Amino acid sequence: MKKSVRKKKILIAGAGITGITLAYLLKKKFDVTVYEQMWEVGGLCVQDTYYGYDINRYGPHIFYTNKPEVMDIIRKWGGLRPYTHKVLSFVRGKLVPYPINTETLKHFKDDKEALKEMMKPYHEKRWGKFKDKAPLPHVHPIKHGCGSHIMPKDNFFEHRWQGMPAIGYREWFKKALQGVEVVTQRPFVYNDMERDIRSPMPEYNVFDLYIVTGYPDRFFNGEYGNLEAVGSSFHNIYIPNKRKYYPVAVVNFPEKEIPYLRVAEYKTLYNQRGNGTVLQFEYPDYQLRFYPLNDEANQKIYAKYMKKKTKKKIIFAGRQGKYKYMNMSEAMEDAIEIAKRLMK
Ligand SMILES: Cc1cc2nc3c(=O)[nH]c(=O)nc-3n(C[C@H](O)[C@H](O)[C@H](O)COP(=O)(O)OP(=O)(O)OC[C@H]3O[C@@H](n4cnc5c(N)ncnc54)[C@H](O)[C@@H]3O)c2cc1C
Repeated sequence: MKKSVRKKKILIAGAGITGITLAYLLKKKFDVTVYEQMWEVGGLCVQDTYYGYDINRYGPHIFYTNKPEVMDIIRKWGGLRPYTHKVLSFVRGKLVPYPINTETLKHFKDDKEALKEMMKPYHEKRWGKFKDKAPLPHVHPIKHGCGSHIMPKDNFFEHRWQGMPAIGYREWFKKALQGVEVVTQRPFVYNDMERDIRSPMPEYNVFDLYIVTGYPDRFFNGEYGNLEAVGSSFHNIYIPNKRKYYPVAVVNFPEKEIPYLRVAEYKTLYNQRGNGTVLQFEYPDYQLRFYPLNDEANQKIYAKYMKKKTKKKIIFAGRQGKYKYMNMSEAMEDAIEIAKRLMK
């Protein structure tokens, strides 16, 4: 009789796009379980419905990539509906194109003045007390792959593929996680892992490998200090009998007198019809951790967590796990790279 080979068991902590991509790829060879601390999957890409309109809970999420490998997966999940992202910035009482392009410059003396009025205050609002330590590229078009300060046109992204999920993020993730055991409302930290390993209960003491897509400081109970980051909170309003409020999906509000950073109009992103519209106001929130600061001091703390000796192998992945800014494509690339190594 043929002996059945026990599949290696992998636990993935966190069901954001990194954990989901990992589960999707690794399930072909391993027995994969996902623990997610929230009550649903999706991480920062979670999609909600507000007054019947699709929105993202944690800010507008537009998918863009130059990587065919990433796009292959996206197609299998349901593909993209083409959408070209455009952003305006509200400065001196006017809506001007962003990133800075030739049209923007008509509103300013020169590009220095445009940078001073559009980028600098936005950066300061986003990062608060960390403004001098934070990476300016975060609000810089170069970071978004646009190449230079001055853009020839007003497209926000210049990637080979950009768009919104054709069937929505919710359905993408449902497809990706088919056949994977997902346990929600289940935070998983190092103390639990120790308990899992020692537990006499067979359902616990089973994992061969752990992949953590959460922050390492939280995972290790802050042993070497906290990794600094900033976040945003969101406030949605529904406006009845208003078909569109803004000409584009996202408007930046750099001026410091205005408390919010951005307003997103989701009808434009999700190409929805209806008599009303939903606006989402994004406020800087320094208690939340969406944007890793990742300066030298924090990198040193991060390195300590990475050197910590553990009884079983742990791989840290994704934006929180690697503690660095990653867009969705980059998070998926990280997951693909890890999966390739493990599937060898
Ligand atoms: C406001 C905003 C707008 C953005 N817009 C875009 C955009 O337009 N395009 C783009 O490409 N990217 C965008 N991004 C970036 C995008 O959100 C990230 O690239 C992506 O969500 C990273 O996925 P992740 O899985 O690595 O992390 P997350 O989405 O943060 O997921 C991590 C998951 O792990 C869970 N978790 C953490 N720790 C544990 C634990 N110990 N146990 C169990 N579960 C745990 C969390 O609850 C979460 O669900 C935006 C980000 C923000 C904040």
